[in-house]
Amino acid sequence: MPPAPELLPLSPPLPIASDWDVVVVGAGLAGALAAHGLARRGVRVVLVEQRVFPRWKVCGACLSPQALAALEAAGLAGLVVAQGGLALGSLQLGVAGLVSRIALGPGQVLSRARLDQALLEAAEAAGATVLTGTRAVLGAATAGLAPHRQVVLQNGTARRIVRAKVVLIAAGLTHRCLDGEAEITSSIDPLSRVGAGCVLPAEIDGPPLGVLQMAVGRGGYGGLVRVEGGQINLACAFDPSLLRSSGGAAGACQAILTEAGFASPPGLDGAAWQLTAALSRRTSPLAGHRLLLLGDAAGYVEPFTGEGMGWALTSSLAALPLVMRGLEHWDGAIEADWRRRHHRWVSQRQGFCRTLALILRNPRATWGLSRLAATFPSITSSIIGRVQRPSLPCLTD
Ligand SMILES: Cc1cc2nc3c(=O)[nH]c(=O)nc-3n(C[C@H](O)[C@H](O)[C@H](O)COP(=O)(O)OP(=O)(O)OC[C@H]3O[C@@H](n4cnc5c(N)ncnc54)[C@H](O)[C@@H]3O)c2cc1C
Repeated sequence: MPPAPELLPLSPPLPIASDWDVVVVGAGLAGALAAHGLARRGVRVVLVEQRVFPRWKVCGACLSPQALAALEAAGLAGLVVAQGGLALGSLQLGVAGLVSRIALGPGQVLSRARLDQALLEAAEAAGATVLTGTRAVLGAATAGLAPHRQVVLQNGTARRIVRAKVVLIAAGLTHRCLDGEAEITSSIDPLSRVGAGCVLPAEIDGPPLGVLQMAVGRGGYGGLVRVEGGQINLACAFDPSLLRSSGGAAGACQAILTEAGFASPPGLDGAAWQLTAALSRRTSPLAGHRLLLLGDAAGYVEPFTGEGMGWALTSSLAALPLVMRGLEHWDGAIEADWRRRHHRWVSQRQGFCRTLALILRNPRATWGLSRLAATFPSITSSIIGRVQRPSLPCLTD
């Protein structure tokens, strides 16, 4: 008698419905705000996140006036303060040993662990289903009477293929969940820097509450700010060559702080540094069949001006009317409209940051700008205020 074939263990199904109006991949700011907005409009939406929350992520933790205005427009005006967010009053900009003090507009600081958890909870309270610790991969598009996109969800050994009328990809910089979608590609800027960050304990000497210390050096820059609880949030963008020559993120950070004229806080060497993928990238196209890309997944520029969260939140607001249209009937016009809307509300604004990042690579230009900031701090402050003046898309057209 032949031996019985070995039985493969079947993956248990994830206990979740298989049909959805919208699947949102990634519960960073872009994904959570989109899920929140859709749930408030009565849409059956599931928000899928691979990490277990609360989770920390590399980010300067400074919310610009644009980010705060986007939260307010979404009905979440009090969220940051309720979570212990602190007012951001001023910037200490250090370049080549010269530190300028510049007053800032109405920004706030909140750790990403708190902010992202609070937004995820807001989405859940609005009626979204939330699945954390679950990785999503985009599947096939199917036609027929009820056309949809498939999304494969994997949590440990449990697996499920779900269907949605619309899928929103808000998976951050790398979005490997799109690996099967051959026509969507990301091109990385050859000069792109790499992000790095860590948190230092509250008792360490560093910036006072409400002050952002920004150190600019030849191989990158870094921002230090105290978050709720007093810990110092450190977020940097480094040239890969500086990372290599300094033996890692702690050495690179030390080099930049010293060059800029700041004291290095103790504990950099022993801190739990996290690195990101290359930062500056463009993704194209920004939409596919029953599919829109939001937030960093739709392209990102270096974080020098601290606007990434504002862009991510604004992209979610801008996408809402198109998602509502797509639930009724999907056609190519929605994809074209998303490219236009995204350009109007996000990519166009990223242009300024891209230009500034290029200028900052020239040591003479950086020195000139820092002299200007030191000599005319109030003019610099009003230029920053103008650049950061919020403007938001209409949520119903
Ligand atoms: C060094 C640095 C400093 C910065 N400083 C600031 C600042 O001070 N102010 C500011 O406004 N912006 C700042 N930014 C930018 C800001 O952090 C990002 O723009 C913002 O987080 C983008 O949000 P997002 O929702 O698009 O992506 P993310 O916040 O990256 O969220 C994406 C989520 O998707 C999840 N995910 C990925 N793949 C999958 C998958 N397959 N299945 C399920 N889940 C998945 C990830 O785990 C993650 O939680 C900074 C960035 C860097 C690198």
